[in-house]
Amino acid sequence: MLSIADPRALLQKHFGHREFLEGQEEVISSIVKGDDALVIMPTGGGKSLCYQLPALAGDGLTLVISPLIALMKDQVDSLVAKDIPAAFINSSLSQSEINQRLRAMREGELKIVYVAPERFKSPRFVEALQEIPISLFALDEAHCLSQWGHDFRPDYLRLKRALAQLGQPQVVALTATATPVVRQDIQEQLELGQHGRKSPKIFITGFARPNLTLAVSSVRGKADKLARIFDVMETYKTGIIYCSTRKNVERLYKELRAAKVRCIAYHGAFDEAKRTKAQTKFMSGEASVAIATNAFGMGIDRADLRFVIHYDIPGSVEAYYQEAGRAGRDGEPARCELLFNYADVKTQEFFLDGSNPTREVIEGSYSAIQRLCRRGPIRTAISEIATKIGNGRPNQMAVGTALRLLQRADAIERSYQGGRTYTTALVEPVKDIDDLGFDFDQLALKRQRDGEKLRQVIGYAGEAGCLHRFILNYFGDPHIKDSCGACENCSSRRNRIARPVSEDERALVRSALTAVLGVNGRFGRGRISQALAGSRSKAVLDVNLDANSAYGYLKSHGVDYAFSLLTELIQAGCLLISDDQYPVLSVTELGRDVLQGEAEAEIAMPDPGRARTKAKKKVEKRVAGRPMQAEALPHSELYDELKQWRFKKSRAGRIPAYMIFNDATLEELARFRPSNQDELLAIKGFGPAKARKLGKAVLAMIAGSVDEQESPPLEEFSYSSVEDEGWSEGEFNG
Ligand code: ADP
Repeated sequence: MLSIADPRALLQKHFGHREFLEGQEEVISSIVKGDDALVIMPTGGGKSLCYQLPALAGDGLTLVISPLIALMKDQVDSLVAKDIPAAFINSSLSQSEINQRLRAMREGELKIVYVAPERFKSPRFVEALQEIPISLFALDEAHCLSQWGHDFRPDYLRLKRALAQLGQPQVVALTATATPVVRQDIQEQLELGQHGRKSPKIFITGFARPNLTLAVSSVRGKADKLARIFDVMETYKTGIIYCSTRKNVERLYKELRAAKVRCIAYHGAFDEAKRTKAQTKFMSGEASVAIATNAFGMGIDRADLRFVIHYDIPGSVEAYYQEAGRAGRDGEPARCELLFNYADVKTQEFFLDGSNPTREVIEGSYSAIQRLCRRGPIRTAISEIATKIGNGRPNQMAVGTALRLLQRADAIERSYQGGRTYTTALVEPVKDIDDLGFDFDQLALKRQRDGEKLRQVIGYAGEAGCLHRFILNYFGDPHIKDSCGACENCSSRRNRIARPVSEDERALVRSALTAVLGVNGRFGRGRISQALAGSRSKAVLDVNLDANSAYGYLKSHGVDYAFSLLTELIQAGCLLISDDQYPVLSVTELGRDVLQGEAEAEIAMPDPGRARTKAKKKVEKRVAGRPMQAEALPHSELYDELKQWRFKKSRAGRIPAYMIFNDATLEELARFRPSNQDELLAIKGFGPAKARKLGKAVLAMIAGSVDEQESPPLEEFSYSSVEDEGWSEGEFNG
């Protein structure tokens, strides 16, 4: 049983924080009471503290199961820096090091130990744990237990057995993924609420991030996107731009470099050294903008990011909010902007197809390999195999996934040969596809669920109401207000009020209503806006939407304008959007009356020219040669001195700068200029351990610094180069 007399005192003493973040106190007091708990908090919500603080109060050990091996060392270093005895056990250690740590655990020398889930494969390891009193079993990234989570790890399935072998210790499972199906799965997989355990307490909290201004900008193409990026960088300086493909990362990186922006590029094809170099530049503050795929993020703990831009729409609201949520972790205002161009949905549809091959593609890939490998193993690229499958030219990424599935089912063997080439061999005897252990129903269900997630994030992009409300609703966070008054929709709605429409606008409204009426209740906003914009895409032509009488009517306005107009017509009550899995539009009675000229609706008409004119202006400005700089806001000389000192220390100690101090701490130090240890302890982020280790140096620097002055501009530095690469398996996944 844990006991804490004064959690706040522990918070201040060990972690240097004055207040709990939203939800932390409730979770901690429930854990201290002995409840099992399922904690759903967004990234950056402060989940770690929910088990780290109770760990200090228990007699036994807190075991933290985490799949993020790369981060364990940082996490442990940061605890040790706070005088908390902690260690990790993962594959980077030798057996004798592991034994040494197990001994320290047995002897009560450690309070918190991070363990990788694959350790539980070893019966010897579990036996060793049985000799150690475990007061809390904390399962981080608990969504890895769920096949429906975005990151399923089969090793997590061993944990149920481990819990039984360890005598059912108290459990806290933590994740940022809150969909009900994942939540349910976590409870079932861990058998919480069974074996004499009470049902776990569920906490869904902290999704509200009122300091983030959420915004969606409709853009028509690359020039618009670039213009928005420069706009945002000009005001917000420091942040991340997420792209959905490596190609987009590289393209944008070149563009921004050409404009002398201090930036780094980062994606999954970079080797370890290059990744670390880019990450260090960004974390140390040497670069202020990161252009990256979703590979960038795990462990990015730079709290002072003032913006996150999504260059392309991501595949789900979870992914969006997790990435966007990396902005403003210091609680200061930050902007999260999604650049929405309907055409980008195609990339996500490609990923969806690519990561969820149909039965036909899996079967076709297996047959093709059987034919190709008749005379033995072959050396070839996936693209080559794809041409041998049926007559439908399947998506190459889907073929790549199918081959991986076949490999996992021991039907084929593959080894990577570099470039785009693999050696592929058939495993004899050839089996019937139904005997390979695939659950095609489950695969189809997963595809359907991924499709649903994509539709939800498109829904977010088209949301006309409060974006914060949309997010809280999505995650099931009960702390919902009607509207935040702070997201772009809430603030622009205040300026853009529904009003009677002009004669010209009436024609636009009629065209949109006509388009919907022609296919009443059959299609959603996406397809109808494409038809209004005269798209020749397969999605439109296949269902004869080009025969709609309003087809192409809004061609000069573009598909995003059409999408916004449909959204406003829903808001105005002229259109109804269904509430089911595939939301479709239909015309309401008011809509019909408007169409027939028998009623006037008041509509907040979208502004057709805004994005385009702004884009043009920006690009012209750039071309005229005035370089755009994204750099730190002017700070006092002391601030810069402290930052410089932190940078050197971070380099010397090979630890990320934020682990020394975050920017908010630097700012407080520079503003309040503490002159002794007591005053130092009043600074945000300064606990006694830190004060002891670093206090003297910091106080000396403050005592010696001159008064406030504007800082000189920072110097340019050299950029890491981006390698050229071809398409390879997994190219799109970060
Ligand atoms: P998560 O695991 O939910 O993504 P972390 O546990 O890594 O989040 O915490 C995110 C950041 O918030 C860290 O920098 C951490 O030091 C900080 N943090 C946690 N709790 C508090 C608190 N009570 N006050 C201020 N900062 C906090």
